[in-house]
Amino acid sequence: MTDAIPREADFDLAPNLLDGAKELNLTTRDCDLGYWLTAVAQGTLAGRAATGHAETAPTPEFMRKPGPLREALILELGWRSIAEERAARSLSYFVADAPGVPEMEFFATQVLDEARHAMVFRNHLVELGVPADELHATIAELSAEYVADVLTPIEEFVVRTVRDEGDFVGAVAAFTIVVEGVLAPAAELSERKWDRLDPAAGEIARGAGIDEIRHLTVGSSIVREHLIKHPEYRSRVLEIVTAGRKLWDEVPVLKYVLRRENLFQEGMQEHLDLLDGYEVFPGRKLLDTSPMERYDIAEHWTDEMSEARLRYMNLEEAIAILATGK
Ligand code: FE
Ligand code: FE
Repeated sequence: MTDAIPREADFDLAPNLLDGAKELNLTTRDCDLGYWLTAVAQGTLAGRAATGHAETAPTPEFMRKPGPLREALILELGWRSIAEERAARSLSYFVADAPGVPEMEFFATQVLDEARHAMVFRNHLVELGVPADELHATIAELSAEYVADVLTPIEEFVVRTVRDEGDFVGAVAAFTIVVEGVLAPAAELSERKWDRLDPAAGEIARGAGIDEIRHLTVGSSIVREHLIKHPEYRSRVLEIVTAGRKLWDEVPVLKYVLRRENLFQEGMQEHLDLLDGYEVFPGRKLLDTSPMERYDIAEHWTDEMSEARLRYMNLEEAIAILATGK
């Protein structure tokens, strides 16, 4: 008999990432190492630990055939797998510099979560037919430009704050508000895009989304609690948010999103039967969306989510700084 799995870590019952990140408030006290070993390792991951999806969730044969849809998913998961790997490495500094045991334990679990996301994203490429012995080389090649243009500048921003400046809370703010806060809506969109086309990929995204609720809410609670104790730190957080906003304006994310979404657009036209009537959100059919619209949907979700999290942190002034709306 296992302990009851809390709802937010239950694969079937947890809210989606956007709702969870907006509505739940978890702290390092809720999500300690015991929680992770029980609720996540034996809960969320039960039956899905190695691949990120249930054995019953298939990857359809057409996803293994060369074509725009397969190419879109390979690009998406290849890039995200490297992003997760970089996140795991960067977060190791958070473990090293954590001010207390609760924070150390939490980030040790987050390091493992991100390393695991990297693994399941990467391994799904093998399920799509990429030869296992070419996996690392294939990903390195398809992501080289993306890493240099997007991931490296973002990683430097976070690592500089924690490792070089020794500002643990600042780095948590940078990672939670700026890095994960912006990537989460894209992850949510991914789950909804692939749900019908590649149920295995849909489940992989769902599992990562459940972990992400925890990362976003616990990270926010660390910043919130620090600001309650140290109101004078507020100006520093606003500085970090401003620097993060500037960074996102400088990195050419749109170029990469559109490359991937154009392929997806072409690919989904080949599966009108599967996607018939499927809504990306209530009232909007996925088939009727364009690549640019999907980018805008993710941006809109980013604004909504960050507004809720920033209010929770008592950082209302940061909402306007971070807003993507032009
Ligand atoms: Fe992750
Ligand atoms: Fe994360």
